[in-house]
Amino acid sequence: MLISRLTGRGGGLAVSGLIAEVIAPDIYQHVGSTLKPDLVFVTGTNGKTSTTNLISEILAAKGAKVVSNHSGANIARGISGAYISSLFGSAFGGGARAGVFEVDEAVVPQLATAMRPSVQVFLNLSRDQLDRYGEIDRILDNWVKSITKARPGEEQALVVNADDPRLFPLVEGGNQSEVDVITFGLEEQPSFWKDFDYATDREFCVCGTIVEYRERFSGHLGDWFCSSCGRHRTRPDVTGRILESSQAGTTVEVSVRPVSEMRVFYVPQLGEYPAYNLLAAAAAAFKLDINLDVVEGSVNQAKAKFGRQEQFHYDDKVIRIWLAKNPRGLDEIFKALIVKEAKRQHLLFVLNSDVQDGKDVSWIYDANFESLRGRYRSLAVSGFRASDLSLRATVAGLENIETCDDIGGAMRASLDAMDGGEYLEIIASYTAMLEIRSIVAKLTDTAPFWK
Ligand SMILES: [Zn+2]
Repeated sequence: MLISRLTGRGGGLAVSGLIAEVIAPDIYQHVGSTLKPDLVFVTGTNGKTSTTNLISEILAAKGAKVVSNHSGANIARGISGAYISSLFGSAFGGGARAGVFEVDEAVVPQLATAMRPSVQVFLNLSRDQLDRYGEIDRILDNWVKSITKARPGEEQALVVNADDPRLFPLVEGGNQSEVDVITFGLEEQPSFWKDFDYATDREFCVCGTIVEYRERFSGHLGDWFCSSCGRHRTRPDVTGRILESSQAGTTVEVSVRPVSEMRVFYVPQLGEYPAYNLLAAAAAAFKLDINLDVVEGSVNQAKAKFGRQEQFHYDDKVIRIWLAKNPRGLDEIFKALIVKEAKRQHLLFVLNSDVQDGKDVSWIYDANFESLRGRYRSLAVSGFRASDLSLRATVAGLENIETCDDIGGAMRASLDAMDGGEYLEIIASYTAMLEIRSIVAKLTDTAPFWK
């Protein structure tokens, strides 16, 4: 900023970006070597922030001073923060330091080459945002190319989601380069989610054939195999079995097979993704020589963030906010709402159509609203596109739909319909969520902004 002001040209971002590029290679290498051996990268389309938080908590529980780029702050700022903190750490004696960084899919290869993390976690690769550039293949290619054999005395491991067939080239590439690969995945689909029906894309094997599934877990994740070339999911080293899903959270049995450790975890979030994040963190912890006792103590420390099942308490009622951006994401939410108390839940959908929400709302027809039949006590719709939602819900055969254009009014009506101890699940598009969040913050006397 200062330099751009001095040069009088504005565009501070471009100038600081340029400076970063000039000095970055040294900074990255220095920070990398300062933080090792406990230096972890987390990447993938979904769950980066949550998994980064979780692994940070785990390393902190072990007693390390953890440097991280929380809340999606940009990677350069996270790294420079790490750099500064490493300077102070050594000046004051410090103690063990560790770094856990959420790294954007596109910059993983460059950053990994410079910093050489001990553990790289690959969560999943979804088409959601990447599709528009048709970039998935290129990203994966670059990931695989960046895998190099560990130098003498260097720890290096890849933690890979075995259930994602798109990530399989990492398992093969790691094995070819003699890099330690540890995989994680679910054991099976729990019985209560088995019948959930959602639109799924065809998925292709490296050989070009359509991948088949013995069982699908979530979207393109599952126990997959290719009948043409014989490639198949490797049996995960760290496995999870979802035992129960209740409004308050998910019970997951985690097994670390190489050391025959097993533990039942309670995760205060719903759906499959939190379970995957937990498995990824447990696998990373295993590679960092941290046992499941430490992992267990850390799980409850990791709090939900912006639009990711954020919870508020109003009297003795619970309000939970979900962000819906596309049919796949909305289906994940619907599935997560299949909990044992489903008949008692209250649902409020809020849909706007600003640029950030997407002008075209017809995508709501691709999501499985039908799955909500018999799974709520009250159902309200609101936002600029309340009438579209109402029609969609009616087409899905849902009954007793309350339509209220005013979001505040809709929320009051929903809360009035609730008994103590019940949950209001608010599912909102982006700008609707901002509105909802500020109304809820006022109502519950919570900080109006969140990090
Ligand atoms: Zn194949």
